[in-house]
Amino acid sequence: MAEKIEVTFLGTGSAIPTARRNHSATLIQYKDEMILFDCGEGTQRQFRKAKINMCKITKILISHWHADHTLGIPGLFQTMAMNGYSKCLKVYGPRGSKEKIREILNLFGIDDRRLRLEVHEVSEGKFIDEKDFFVESMPMEHGIPTNGYSFSVKEKNRLDRKKLEKLKLPNSPLMGDLIKGKTVKIDGKKIDGKKLMYVEPQRKITMIVDSKYTPNAIKLANDADVLTCEASFSEDDGEVAGDHGHMNSVEAATIAKKAKAKKLILVHLSQRYDMIPKKILSEAKKVFKETVVAEDFDKLVL
Ligand SMILES: [Zn+2]
Ligand SMILES: [Zn+2]
Repeated sequence: MAEKIEVTFLGTGSAIPTARRNHSATLIQYKDEMILFDCGEGTQRQFRKAKINMCKITKILISHWHADHTLGIPGLFQTMAMNGYSKCLKVYGPRGSKEKIREILNLFGIDDRRLRLEVHEVSEGKFIDEKDFFVESMPMEHGIPTNGYSFSVKEKNRLDRKKLEKLKLPNSPLMGDLIKGKTVKIDGKKIDGKKLMYVEPQRKITMIVDSKYTPNAIKLANDADVLTCEASFSEDDGEVAGDHGHMNSVEAATIAKKAKAKKLILVHLSQRYDMIPKKILSEAKKVFKETVVAEDFDKLVL
């Protein structure tokens, strides 16, 4: 069985929070990894409401340094420092992130001996490559340095246990070789381990928040199982979205369609659509059927 990837939407609002939607924050949990994508104001309380321990965060990915995506960082750092966060917290963001983090530590008097940090400025390409997953980024268009990110769990060879059971093999020291895909002889029977294996495909989640419509978004989301994308505006708002460095519902859906994503989850809704997300949803669905609008605390497992 594949280890699950759990995505929790901690904040699905945009520049101004509402009672229903907090500022941007999305959490990915996979095995021991807890990766937070953006940390808007109030994200700590969203963690508490979702009953997730924020001191288990291993990495923070920052899309860009607008307040609705980053104001929660100082408070989160303070909590981690007070709780004796013992790992090294890795922070990734666009150009300028090192200076911004230094400013936060200075401004709020956060002792970096109590919170070990490693800050990396990233732009285009793979910047984390672990044994079973990787993370890549791509620059977006939003007026200031802004990144979109993809988190991918690599494809894996797995043993089909049902097929193995059917063979009713006696216990053998060669079993280890068999489940590695080698050909072995057990009880006089030649068995090809490769025939017992199957490939578990790659799983990919792409996260794009503030950006106007850009070909880079399509590239980053290529073949994603899930694309979470901003839809700040409705198509009825005309040119407003692009003028403000944002996307409307139809543009987000077009990216999902062109990228051949399997599912689109809309986030970063403007407060004017707070109570009528159906409007945004129905517009997007006309272009890309597999669309939903995320609500705060929605969870997705893949
Ligand atoms: Zn924003
Ligand atoms: Zn922004």
